[in-house]
Amino acid sequence: MIVETKQLKAINPKTNELVNVTKFIKDVGINYREQGILPICPACKQTMKVYGYTSIDLTARFMHISDSVYCPLTTSRSSLSNADYDESRSERFRASFFDRDAITKTYVVAHSLCSRRLSIAEFHLMIVCADARNLWALEALTIEILPYLLVLLIDFEKDDKDFSSKTKRAYSYRFVLHKPKGRKLNSLSTDQRNCYLTKVNTVGEHKGKTICNPVTKEIVKLSIFDEKYESVRNNHDWISPSFIDKLLDFRG
Ligand SMILES: [Zn+2]
Repeated sequence: MIVETKQLKAINPKTNELVNVTKFIKDVGINYREQGILPICPACKQTMKVYGYTSIDLTARFMHISDSVYCPLTTSRSSLSNADYDESRSERFRASFFDRDAITKTYVVAHSLCSRRLSIAEFHLMIVCADARNLWALEALTIEILPYLLVLLIDFEKDDKDFSSKTKRAYSYRFVLHKPKGRKLNSLSTDQRNCYLTKVNTVGEHKGKTICNPVTKEIVKLSIFDEKYESVRNNHDWISPSFIDKLLDFRG
């Protein structure tokens, strides 16, 4: 089955829960706007609206209120939406990810991609965004590819504090996926040589309702499955069992 990717979940600001449209309307009411209770995008924290709820043809989903809004979930739409989705595998895949070994390997590769600076809160946000977009239903998805797609879902903000860590984040960035023109995301596992990520600097702050400026310059190219990032996958003894317990808690 092929279904288009849509933002199926958003945060109910009253309960702070990630919910689908049906649950949002049930909890808040169809007159949510009059009440001033607007769903919030988990990725960019901007307000959203419900779309397609009363339609029999459309999938009920959340949309950003402002069309011009910057959001990592919509920005990466072009690379993530040209893909086949199979709803039936979503739950199973998500369950296989919440396995001690699988989640640890995913975290360490993502951590390596992020120049060895990835907070547990950021990793959690990636999972929230993956839920919001139902990334788990992507046909091309494997546990090996997962970290390369998870890092596309959020922005990485520079460190405000001027602490003298080697892994200090000096600029805000996001990852962008590149693949041959017109090629579906499904080719990712078979055509790695022609697929790569770029880490791009983002200008401006992306907090609250401030709209972030678009991407400005390319910083570094990361080939999908580059040995530089892959070597850590089976070398994660430095991750403590209690840290892995915290990761597993994000199962929800
Ligand atoms: Zn958003």
